Amino acid sequence: MIKVVFATNNAHKVSEFRSCFEQMGVEAEILTLKDVGFKGDIIEDADTFEGNAHIKAHTLCEFSGLISVADDSGLVVDALGGAPGVYSARYAGENASDQDNIDKLLAELNKYPDRERDAKFVCSLCVCRPDGETLYVNGESEGVIIDEMKGDGRFGYDPIFYYPPFDKTFAEMTSEEKNSISHRGRAIEKLLKHKEFFDI
Ligand code: IMP
Repeated sequence: MIKVVFATNNAHKVSEFRSCFEQMGVEAEILTLKDVGFKGDIIEDADTFEGNAHIKAHTLCEFSGLISVADDSGLVVDALGGAPGVYSARYAGENASDQDNIDKLLAELNKYPDRERDAKFVCSLCVCRPDGETLYVNGESEGVIIDEMKGDGRFGYDPIFYYPPFDKTFAEMTSEEKNSISHRGRAIEKLLKHKEFFDI
């Protein structure tokens, strides 16, 4: 059985990854930052999702000597020149809540009411191996930003991200529906095709 460290303490993300490895048929023990005793701060100061995922995975791989996986994700709005992008979690400030970030995004978009509302969620996954090999996969999901918040799911920008093929916002979807078309779900799907990368 291989050991893989995932650069998170978020239980929800860990369980998503656990089922990803199960689907690959790879017997893996998925560890978190806490499990390997990593207490430091990782400064995510790259200006791309790939860059930030690499910083996290590489730091952890060096620290633990184990295969390490990290993800970085966010919302990209064309009409705002790609903002909030890598700053999605702190668009309205360092300690901004999801609601603060949504309010700021809508205020920015509504400065120019005729602007396009097209947007996409992006997720980059980076895997670093102790032998120096690195793997990247990306997933995207395209939608439209709406003014009215819809749905009870309350993660990030979900309530204002409308996905036309399902006629629902991400917050109105079941987790199965969201995983089947989300940026993260699609990135994980691509990772499933690289089983050989974990066979060391
Ligand atoms: P992280 O990759 O978990 O750090 O996510 C960065 C930020 O992007 C989050 O704090 C959310 O604001 C936003 N984000 C990423 N993925 C999603 C999603 O699936 N739904 C809503 N917001 C998301």
